Amino acid sequence: MIVVLKHGVSDEKKAQLIAWLEALGLKIHISNGEFQTVLGLIGDTTSVDIDLVESLEIVDSVKRVTEPFKCCNRKFHPDDMIVEIGDVKVGGGNFVMIAGPCSVESEEQIVAVAKAVKAAGAKMMRGGAFKPRTSPYDFAGLKATGLEYLKIARQETGLPIVTELMNIMDLPLFEDVDVIQVGARNMQNFDLLRELGRMNKPILLKRGLANTLKELLMSAEYIMANGNERVMLCERGIRTFSDYTRNTLDLAAVPMLHQLTHLPIIVDPSHATGIAKLVPPMAMAATAGGADGLIIEVHNDPIHALCDGAQSLRPEEFAELADKIRAIRGVIA
Ligand code: PEP
Ligand code: MN
Repeated sequence: MIVVLKHGVSDEKKAQLIAWLEALGLKIHISNGEFQTVLGLIGDTTSVDIDLVESLEIVDSVKRVTEPFKCCNRKFHPDDMIVEIGDVKVGGGNFVMIAGPCSVESEEQIVAVAKAVKAAGAKMMRGGAFKPRTSPYDFAGLKATGLEYLKIARQETGLPIVTELMNIMDLPLFEDVDVIQVGARNMQNFDLLRELGRMNKPILLKRGLANTLKELLMSAEYIMANGNERVMLCERGIRTFSDYTRNTLDLAAVPMLHQLTHLPIIVDPSHATGIAKLVPPMAMAATAGGADGLIIEVHNDPIHALCDGAQSLRPEEFAELADKIRAIRGVIA
């Protein structure tokens, strides 16, 4: 249930109402917007007398929220969420390009790519140290050493690190990581999500291979209901009957999610297509469609990449794309 307060209500009256609602056993989420204050009531609201609340002098309107997701529901937070990672802002009109290799392969590689993508305008770098691979015989990442190389690249460039955590046991190694990525295959690892909810760190939550938008939002809810509100969602393509692309980029998910939630939406055209040539057109389409950012795989030597070389752009290709993205932002922003 949400309670919209009238404009200009005093803090004292607001506090009295909140205390009364809390006494009914409800958790109250307060969203102080520019134009209105919205109280989101979380819990069993059956004992709340809607007519009584609506009749209060300070209340503008009361609505029941039927969706099962509450913390990430736009009805609870009419304003866009802006996630801050150091100086970098994502959402609410702040667009971010995240770029880097699929996997961290060596110190030289990640430092070189980080410098190149920074020069092209990326504001954060990506790079997997713990890699989920379909085959147990494939390169699964440099693990703790990879995280150390990412930190060296951050020191050299100042770019915050976005990297995937696969297992709760590895969490202590991620203390000094800037954004923790939850990969598609872990989108419904509920224990992991709960644990991330207890952290004070931004999370990039990727949509599962065959998950609906509601399921994605319920996974965000797991993180947020445990206290961590700094969640960014990522559309990275889903399984369909497409035969020539790795996945199908669900671009309609971007405006749909913007309606449903206030969280920033990032698009990953690399995993969505699996083909480097298709990355620029899909990145541009996602930008035009209202994404708050892009996460793009860039490798200095794609042919010899240990993972996902076929979908990786070369640094110069990324730089060319970044120019086009800025041009599109200039038109739509
Ligand atoms: C990745 O970003 O490298 C990755 C493994 O992505 P996804 O979880 O979307 O497959
Ligand atoms: Mn990859």
